[in-house]
Amino acid sequence: MFLNGKRALVTGSTSGIGLAIARAYAAEGAEVVLNGFGDAAEIERLCAELGARHVGADLTRTQGVEELMEAAGPVDVLVNNAGMQHVAPVESFPPEKWDAILALNLSAAFHTARLAVPHMKAQGWGRIICTASAHSLAASPFKSAYVAAKHGIAGLTKVLALELAEHGVTANCISPGYVWTPLVENQIPDTMAARGMTREEVISKVLLDKQPTRKFVQPEEVAALAVFLCGDAAQNINGANYTIDGGWTAE
Ligand code: NAD
Repeated sequence: MFLNGKRALVTGSTSGIGLAIARAYAAEGAEVVLNGFGDAAEIERLCAELGARHVGADLTRTQGVEELMEAAGPVDVLVNNAGMQHVAPVESFPPEKWDAILALNLSAAFHTARLAVPHMKAQGWGRIICTASAHSLAASPFKSAYVAAKHGIAGLTKVLALELAEHGVTANCISPGYVWTPLVENQIPDTMAARGMTREEVISKVLLDKQPTRKFVQPEEVAALAVFLCGDAAQNINGANYTIDGGWTAE
């Protein structure tokens, strides 16, 4: 229970990867703050399961991030995980989707970090972890906003790592390949339209084709690394971008 006495905020933790990270932190004794949308009764059940609080702020809005940070209080571990996807050719990519994806997948991480850092610096300890993506290192067609935002968050994380290195605070990215979550499931219909494929073809020829293992990554595998990065053994891991992608970005 090495996270006893530590407060961990995981954005976008009502589902998928964020929920797995929140569960893993709670299992290590952290006081977890959940964020994200979902069914109210299910979120209440999750809070009871994890002994957590939930703040449902909309992080596409700067004010929403500020409300989240105010309600959370000082955080020791910050995981910028909330994200969304939209799949469309660039000429028909809706500008409002571009704005929302950049706001949530990139700008929200700047705003959480700027508000979390003063406490981390003052106490001389902190961990910032960003769920980036294999798309922080490599591109795919029809994902202009997502790829731009994920390359951006990888850069932002390096800057945080350099600025905070002397203050006992580390900042790192975890970059999964395809993990079977609602974010992936929801992009299948648009990918079918953009590429003229069936659902089965999208799964085997677009998603799993990227991963030499031909298997989806499990959320718990991402969570295990997020736990490791909080430990003393990871105190000199700073500014790194760890892939968990079955070999996708090795090609
Ligand atoms: P998910 O859809 O299961 O979870 C997304 C979470 O973000 C949910 O809790 C949702 O409620 C929350 N969220 C959505 N819009 C929000 C908003 N406006 N404000 C606050 N919260 C909001 O998705 P996931 O696959 O678990 O994705 C989590 C992160 O992992 C994302 O940053 C995603 O880009 C990244 N990622 C996912 C995969 C994958 O294959 N699933 C791969 C690489 C990276």
